[in-house]
Amino acid sequence: MTKVKKPVFDKKKKADYRSKGTKETGFEFVGHEISDDGKFMNQFLHYDQLYTIRHGANSRFFIELLNGKIVGTRCPKCGDKFVPPRTNCWNLDCNLQDCDWVEFPLTAKMHTWTVAGWSGRSSLKKLPFILVYAFIGDSKTAIANYLTGIKPWEVEFDMPLQVVFVPKKDRVGAVQDWHFEPVKFF
Ligand SMILES: [Zn+2]
Repeated sequence: MTKVKKPVFDKKKKADYRSKGTKETGFEFVGHEISDDGKFMNQFLHYDQLYTIRHGANSRFFIELLNGKIVGTRCPKCGDKFVPPRTNCWNLDCNLQDCDWVEFPLTAKMHTWTVAGWSGRSSLKKLPFILVYAFIGDSKTAIANYLTGIKPWEVEFDMPLQVVFVPKKDRVGAVQDWHFEPVKFF
């Protein structure tokens, strides 16, 4: 285990995310804080009451979402890459090797998908939607997100996808900052 100093959170962005006039108590990201060394992020989630999600060693993944980048990790021993990030390698031979951060391309390959006809409260207004698991770049693990810009009956296994970010001003440092779309061939 690498010993780290207790982070000081001095980059606060709080209470800016809540849409104006929101009265119901529901599921909403309402802000975050980033430590002064840029390594750690805590996120504030309002779900009937306010929760703090401490991203700890995975913070960089969420911080880079604010910059429109997908970063994950790579094991320096075996070379396996992971998005979402794994702090330690999954291969038994690597003996829980600490992974390094690497940037991934904004392209992906479909692994599997479903068409959701019902959902938790946070996604009810988006129904029906296509939920996919896809491999970003050469990641060995798949990540879930929405797929838009395609009819459900046109989705295919292994189809090439792209990661599309919302505008910078709308990003909150969570996976809702981006979604998948099919790669368009011209
Ligand atoms: Zn490894």
